[in-house]
Amino acid sequence: MIIVFLGPPGSGKGTQAGILSREHHFRHFDAGSLLRTEVHSGSALGEEIAGYINEGRLVPINIIGRITHKFLAERQADRTMFDGFPRNLEQASLLTASLIELKQELSHVLYLHIDEDDLLQRIVNRRVCRSCKRIYNLVSNPPHENCSVTGMDCDLYQRDDDSEEVFGRRLRIYLEETVPILRYYEDAGKLRTIDADADIEDVSARIRDVLGMARNGQA
Ligand SMILES: [Zn+2]
Repeated sequence: MIIVFLGPPGSGKGTQAGILSREHHFRHFDAGSLLRTEVHSGSALGEEIAGYINEGRLVPINIIGRITHKFLAERQADRTMFDGFPRNLEQASLLTASLIELKQELSHVLYLHIDEDDLLQRIVNRRVCRSCKRIYNLVSNPPHENCSVTGMDCDLYQRDDDSEEVFGRRLRIYLEETVPILRYYEDAGKLRTIDADADIEDVSARIRDVLGMARNGQA
């Protein structure tokens, strides 16, 4: 089974991807660490990649394509997950080309969907305690007991990334890049949209449903 995981920042995608790889043993495609592995291997491709990285340049799409292809060709696990990739239509068609060449098939594209305004509210109301590091939400999960470190009220602050300006910009960029990918996979009949406006357990259960899996790694 090969899946692609898509979801905006703040949708809980990282958490859900982690659960899948831990409990259901999905092999996880992570472009960054695959590039680093190739560099350490000392191969010709690795040297080429090191050149870009050392100059602080983006690694070009044809190299990402070769890394992807290699990852799929070496595929040993039954379950493979792409997370944070593809990021745009160019990468999506590159993935399709590799899959066709290797006679492999994408099973599902899971899209964790939360209404844009709900997502923004969820993030801009997030606060962290300086002392105990607990994460709260001013609306849905305000502090209800004293700080576990200081014994007084938690000392809340907002992370820079959570400000409406910073997060809003990130969200808009993500949505702009992702809409064409969603359409691409919808046309291919692969898109499964999952309502991610729920707690972690419920979203996990919805994902297992789509994948036809039982809890705790049982097939
Ligand atoms: Zn605290």
